[in-house]
Amino acid sequence: MIDNLNEIMTRAGAFQYGIVDPKNVEFSEEVRKMCEVNTCRQYGKTWACPPAVGTIDECRTRAQSYAYMLVFSQKFDLEDSYDFESVGTAMKDFKAVASRLDEEVKPYLTNYLMLSNEGCGKCESCTYPDNPCRFPDKVHGSIEGYGIFVSNLATQAGMGYNNGKDTVTFFGALLFNDE
Ligand code: SF4
Repeated sequence: MIDNLNEIMTRAGAFQYGIVDPKNVEFSEEVRKMCEVNTCRQYGKTWACPPAVGTIDECRTRAQSYAYMLVFSQKFDLEDSYDFESVGTAMKDFKAVASRLDEEVKPYLTNYLMLSNEGCGKCESCTYPDNPCRFPDKVHGSIEGYGIFVSNLATQAGMGYNNGKDTVTFFGALLFNDE
């Protein structure tokens, strides 16, 4: 898959990408505590977010069972820094980038883990916590919910975190082994 990465990322619609060793990534209780404050209002609402994704130790162990972390981003333009409507649209559009990448890598990988931006949003109403996820093969865990400092991760991957005035950039990650 790595040999075809450029084409795959272009088709998925990524802005930038980079590969890091998951063992060098920090999985932080501090970031998890930010989730628990529930500013995004997704904590305890879906199978993609804490506490459903497990403890920070469980997230770290799961992620570090893979050899590579492919970090990817997409940058979205805003009218101004108060353009919350476009931020909301961009959040959904980034999930579509992660879903396209998921489809792109399926022919190459049998076992992988995809993380995306906060929440899930695939169903009108999530089954959490009463019933199992409707689409366990398609749900992408929250990268922030895994306790990852996205700004640090972007730097590690050689990617831009802030990509210009009146823009917002979202990040996801694909964990995989060389098959
Ligand atoms: S796919 Fe549906 S059921 Fe599963 S976490 Fe997302 S919203 Fe919930």
